[in-house]
Order: sequence, then structure tokens, then C-alpha cells
Amino acid sequence: MPELPEVETIRRQLEPAVVGERIEEIDVLDPRWCAPLAPAELRDVVAGRRVEALRRRGKYLDWALAAEVHLLMHLRMTGTLLLDPLQTSDHTRVVISLGGGHRLAFVDPRRFGTGQLVIGDGALEDFYATRLGVEPFDDEFTPAHLRELARGRRAPIKSFLLDQRRIAGIGNIYADEALFRTGVHPRRAAGALRPAQYELLRDAIREVLSAGIDARGASIDDFRHLDGARGSFQDRFLVHRRGGEPCVRCGTTIRKMVVGGRGTYVCEHCQPVPRARRAGAA
Ligand SMILES: [Zn+2]
Repeated sequence: MPELPEVETIRRQLEPAVVGERIEEIDVLDPRWCAPLAPAELRDVVAGRRVEALRRRGKYLDWALAAEVHLLMHLRMTGTLLLDPLQTSDHTRVVISLGGGHRLAFVDPRRFGTGQLVIGDGALEDFYATRLGVEPFDDEFTPAHLRELARGRRAPIKSFLLDQRRIAGIGNIYADEALFRTGVHPRRAAGALRPAQYELLRDAIREVLSAGIDARGASIDDFRHLDGARGSFQDRFLVHRRGGEPCVRCGTTIRKMVVGGRGTYVCEHCQPVPRARRAGAA
């Protein structure tokens, strides 16, 4: 599933091809993509409009169009964007024709990806405010801020990290990798880390997300670049998807478990198993 680094990779690749160009046509082949808005309604607002900027917030890709029209794309589980694909796919949900002659296909086998229209910059802020927490690279995301977000929370730290309303953009891959680097077990209560661990965790989150962007994302399933190429961060995972293999630090066999309903990888030597929770435990 694309996370912050994967969406940022797409954004960086797409930006030079689309900014300043006009969306000539948008053909939504699968009405579910923009429901409850009908494809024709979406088309009426978007077609002919110039792309002023291409931004990312969390895992959303924001097409900032003329007159404060925002087309927000979310790739969800299996969405990919392909620029000028050589072949059409059975899983193509949307085709955008751009000035400059480019064609962009939104391909999505599982069909969970979405396109939403938000009109007005204020409405966009409201949209994000109810869905997304702090951006990991923003200055306000300090260790103290992270600690404050987690204060009193008994949910596992892994689940906390996946909650987009707290911190935006982290998914299953980067949560596992950040917790391993921090030496914190994914089942630890989010509010029960030591102060120094929040600092390590904040740094590890930024480190793994940066490494993911540098590697142009991770392609463990459907994620592809605009030209269909694969990212390479999957080759640099330290724990994620490495169940049964020895830990790179200590040699202990990496375990796969389920935390908050998600497949989770952990070295239980480097990431000690939390003690049973006691009432009022800090
Ligand atoms: Zn280890």
C-alpha cells in the first residue's frame, strides 16, 4: 500500500509533466472512483482547468487547479498512476488527457483508490483537518509534540503510528521499520514510552521516510513509478517482510505477528516484549 514516500515519489515524478498544463479531459471509467459525485459532474468542473501545483499531504495527492479547485487522489491499496502507458490495462479506472499530449492512467485492481473534489482552499484545510494529523517533516513535529500526541494512549504504538489523524503518511512498512530502529516493541502502549524513546522514534520516523523517498518508494506489491518501474526500498527493509530471517543487529529470528489487525515484523531481542499492562502504568 502506498505510504508517504511512495506518494511523494509519484508527486515528484509527475510534477514536471503536469504543472502549468491544462487538464483537457478526464474520463472516469469507474464511477466508484469519484462517488458520490458522478463522473460527468467531476468532468464538468475539472476539464479545461490549468494545473497550478501538485502537492502532497499525508497520502493524498492534491491537484491544485485554477480557481482553488482541488482534485484529491488517494491510491489506497493498489492504485498506481502511469504516464503515457504503452498498453491499456483492464484495471484502468481513470484516464486524464493533459495539454502537452500526455495521458495519465489511474490503474487500480482492487478499486479502493479515490478521486475527490474540494472547492476552495479553506475547504481543503477543513478536509485535511478532520482526517490528517501532523506532517512528519513539518517543524512542529518535534519529540515533545509526538510525546504529547501519545500521552495517555493505551493503544499499541504500532496502531498509533498508523492512525492518520495523529501523524499523516505512515503505513505498515514505515511503522515497522521506525519501531525497529527505535528498539520499541509494536505492542507497547503508545503513551508508555520513555521520553528518550519519543525522541528516537521521531528521528526514526523521519529517517525511514527519507530513506523511502531516496529509494523512490517500496514496491512489494502493486506500487510502480509513473513509467512502471519499481521502487527499491523493499531491498533495504530491516524487519518488514523478513519474518524467519535473522535480525541484522543481533541474529535473533524476526517474528511476524498481528498488531491492530496488521501483519507486523519484530525482533523481540532488539524490541523487548512489553510487560503485562498494569492499571495506571506509566
Ligand atoms: Zn535484533
